[in-house]
Amino acid sequence: MQLNGACLCGNVQITIPEIVEEITVCHCQMCQKFFGSSFLSLPGLSAEQFALQGAEFVQRYASSQWAERGFCKNCGSSLFYHALGQDYFFPTGLFEGVTGKIVQEIFYDKKPEFYQLQNDAPKLSEKEFLAHLFEGK
Ligand SMILES: [Zn+2]
Ligand SMILES: [Zn+2]
Repeated sequence: MQLNGACLCGNVQITIPEIVEEITVCHCQMCQKFFGSSFLSLPGLSAEQFALQGAEFVQRYASSQWAERGFCKNCGSSLFYHALGQDYFFPTGLFEGVTGKIVQEIFYDKKPEFYQLQNDAPKLSEKEFLAHLFEGK
């Protein structure tokens, strides 16, 4: 399924020709600060798997030694999490008509207690997620 997205002001446009809408929710503290709440993320995409227009409006912030986060210089919309040299992860909120479902929630032990999302997807704590990440390498 193709997805078309844009920031609030429309200066940055993102087109993803083909994606499986499997949504991961990240509750880590950095995502909460950057996205304003937990991060509802589309699957990771390499730079060849999407087209971005308005790159001159994208400000990148090095949020750690291994990742950067992008936002629109004009309107401030959070645009992506990018694991350096690897994939880009875009928030569902930028795109029209996302109908996918949540397939996992990560850093679940960092989720604020005042809400929970209704789904039966696996929920991994920070420790469980990191262990899972490193065992896959
Ligand atoms: Zn913008
Ligand atoms: Zn996160």
